[in-house]
This record gives sequence, structure tokens and C-alpha cells, in this order.
Amino acid sequence: MKSVAKNIAEFKKQLPDHVTLVAVSKTKPVALIEDAYSAGQRDFGENKVQELTAKIPVLPADIRWHLIGHLQTNKVKYIADAVHLIHAVDSENLLAEINKQAVKHNKTISVLLQLHIAKEETKFGLSEQELHDLLNAQAKGIFPNVKIKGLMGMATNTEDEQLIRSEFRSLRKLFEATKTNEWDTLSMGMSSDWKIAIEEGSTMIRIGSALFGERHY
Ligand SMILES: *Cc1c(COP(=O)(O)O)cnc(C)c1O
Repeated sequence: MKSVAKNIAEFKKQLPDHVTLVAVSKTKPVALIEDAYSAGQRDFGENKVQELTAKIPVLPADIRWHLIGHLQTNKVKYIADAVHLIHAVDSENLLAEINKQAVKHNKTISVLLQLHIAKEETKFGLSEQELHDLLNAQAKGIFPNVKIKGLMGMATNTEDEQLIRSEFRSLRKLFEATKTNEWDTLSMGMSSDWKIAIEEGSTMIRIGSALFGERHY
């Protein structure tokens, strides 16, 4: 396999300037993250709190850590201090807890709201109605230490490109219809569908296996 550093360099060449590459390093060892770092990569994504908190202290402090997976309310306290962006906020309870921990740390935490756009019921995310309810709650000013930066979504895991495209397109549409001045991030696209995601307006792609190789659990 090619080195991770080389994969990063090749990937970056293909990306438009307005798209941020988050290197998804879940299950991958520290040495491979250092390899990516040496190629200039600074945004890394993990989906498990425990794995993230184990990696943070042994890696360079200027890495921007993205928590991309489902986050349980009782685990927010472990990452509040260090996380750059939480991608998968899917309930008002979670938003309230993130705000509480942000207040404790005297900081603001940036988040994305995850929308459920895929066919699979097992995927997480808000419905459109839940999104509007959550934004109405936020508009009352009750989460002052949380900054909503945009939306995140995962398309159906399928070969059907038209379906993937239509799911990304609907998320983009919702993003455009809902965004405030603070919103600048639309996180969509993974190893298998990032090209479609960028064509449909993604500003942040989350790439794991195409950079680091297949994952072995
Ligand atoms: C694992 C994961 C990715 C990366 O998946 P690849 O197919 O390996 O690129 C992206 N987003 C989320 C939320 C993930 O859990």
C-alpha cells in the first residue's frame, strides 16, 4: 500500500479550496496519524470518545480533532476541552449537555447538526421537523456557549449513485434554506461518495479507508 502521506497529498490535489479534508483515523494507530500529519494534514476525525481521548495526548497539539460519530450525552465531558468540531449532534439534550460542558470550560464549542438523510433506519440524525424544533430552542438563547456551524449527513450505503446524489442534494437544500450567518460547514461525503458530495455542495469531507486503508475491527 502507498504511504498515508502520499495518499493525503494526492487527495488534496483533487480537492477544491473550499473543501476541508477530515482524515478519519478511527481504529488506526498513532504512527499512521503521524504519517498523515507529516504531509501537512491537521484535521482528524474519530468516532469513539475513548479512542479520541487516548490519542489526543500522544499526538501534536495543533491537530484539530473532529468527533464524527454518535455522541452519548454522558461522554461529552471527556472531550469538551479538546474537540474542534462535534459533527453529529442529533438531540436537544445533547446540545444542552455540550453547552453545559462548554460553560464549565469557559469556552465555546462548535457543532454540526446531523440530519437523517439515508434509507437505513440504523443511521442517526434529526428529521427536518426535529431540526426546526432544535433551532427554535437555540433561537431562545439557551445554549450561549454552543456555536452551530452547519449540518452533517451520511448518504445510504448503496451503489445507486442517483439515490446518493438526491440525498446529498436534499441536505444541501435544507442547509441553504436554514443557514444563518454563522453557518459555513456542510459535512457530507466519505471514501465511496465524496465526489458526488462535492458536486452537491459539500464543504467538508470525512475520509477514512481511502487514506488509511480498510479498517479491521
Ligand atoms: C467511518 C466514518 C467515515 C469514514 O468512512 P470511510 O468510508 O472509511 O471513508 C466518515 N464519517 C463517519 C461518520 C464515519 O463514522
